[in-house]
Amino acid sequence: MATTKNDPNEIRASDIVFDCPFCQKNLAIDCRGAGLTITCPDCDNRIQVPIPEGMEVGDIDRTDEDQEVRIIHMREVLATSQNRIVELETELEDQEQRRDALEKLRAENAVRFDVISREVEVIQRALVRIAEVLESAAESARKSAAGPAA
Ligand SMILES: [Zn+2]
Repeated sequence: MATTKNDPNEIRASDIVFDCPFCQKNLAIDCRGAGLTITCPDCDNRIQVPIPEGMEVGDIDRTDEDQEVRIIHMREVLATSQNRIVELETELEDQEQRRDALEKLRAENAVRFDVISREVEVIQRALVRIAEVLESAAESARKSAAGPAA
């Protein structure tokens, strides 16, 4: 976090530049270090990084750079969420189509089951009728075998 920069080329516009109150060494620190207590790299004294004029302590974590990073990150999250929404919508559509297909199949099967039930009923009635006819035929055959009655 708190770093000092001796190379003037490394100092950014957002850095806080100040002199150590003990050894007068010129120091530069990232503006997020404002108000922090650091150790002077030259004299090892504990010094407080000054808060630049007009800068609120609450602004320290909200520099333009931080906000840009935050906005970029939020855009990434938003893009990911939007992609996920499109995926979920497509998935939902697929599921709805599948549900519709299954409902149609179920309705068709219900109709088929109804037709089969009626056909089974017809067959059962026919079987009963055939059994009656066979019994009656058997009865006639027994009577014929017995010869003319009296
Ligand atoms: Zn110092």
